[in-house]
Amino acid sequence: MVARRIDRLLPLLALLLGGCQPDIPLPTSSVQKEDAPPVKAVEVPIPPRPHLFFVLERGEPTRKEIALTFDDGPHPEFTPMLLDRLKQLQVHATFFMVGEMVKESPQLAKRIVTEGHEAANHSYSHPNLTRLTPTEIRAEIVQGSEQIRKACGVDPLFFRPPGGNYDEKVMEALIKEGMPLGLWTHNTQDFSNPPAPQIEAGILHNAQNGMIVLLHSSIMPTYEILPDLVAKLRKQGYTFVTLSQMAQHSPELAERIERAKQLY
Ligand SMILES: [Zn+2]
Repeated sequence: MVARRIDRLLPLLALLLGGCQPDIPLPTSSVQKEDAPPVKAVEVPIPPRPHLFFVLERGEPTRKEIALTFDDGPHPEFTPMLLDRLKQLQVHATFFMVGEMVKESPQLAKRIVTEGHEAANHSYSHPNLTRLTPTEIRAEIVQGSEQIRKACGVDPLFFRPPGGNYDEKVMEALIKEGMPLGLWTHNTQDFSNPPAPQIEAGILHNAQNGMIVLLHSSIMPTYEILPDLVAKLRKQGYTFVTLSQMAQHSPELAERIERAKQLY
């Protein structure tokens, strides 16, 4: 369904990008380096991004990399447990955080980044963006990023729309903000509380190079499956990366970056 939506939207993107091809480039400068230390001073002005755009649904198919992504939060109750577990397992993940929740738990949001995970934007108040006006959509994106920047001292790169709901207006707003749309390869549907073995079996069954797994940060069965899941995937040769690392490791995206340099 998402792929169909993207097909429909590609002409719009080409138009917005002044006639360049639908596979749209990513600015190198806005990709967080995988081993970059957390930015210390929140006062440091963030350089403006060029207006570029792309959708990441899957990483490089030739690399045995998997990105675990956790939506919503940070939750005062669940996130510390999840972070402890990820630290034990030595896995770095990507957290799509909600601005309002970051505002309530800024220390927790900061801990996510200090422990090497990637902070990503999941809007300010988690609405269905397709029901909002362009001005409201922009405010949700900008304020979501703003809260993360204030709490964590980093500028989030990826945006994931709440409920996966997006349309032309949302994409246009993201282009203006220079934020790529971070989607997923496998939706575990863990929010509907399936039993833990079902979530794990779904991921293992769909395991593939470059898989982006959509999980939620406050679901107990998701938390429970992690040790076994990670062990099994590692046994199959997979390593765990953040979305920015995944994007950096893709020759296709590297090519887009090169083209972006020529365009801007
Ligand atoms: Zn969500």
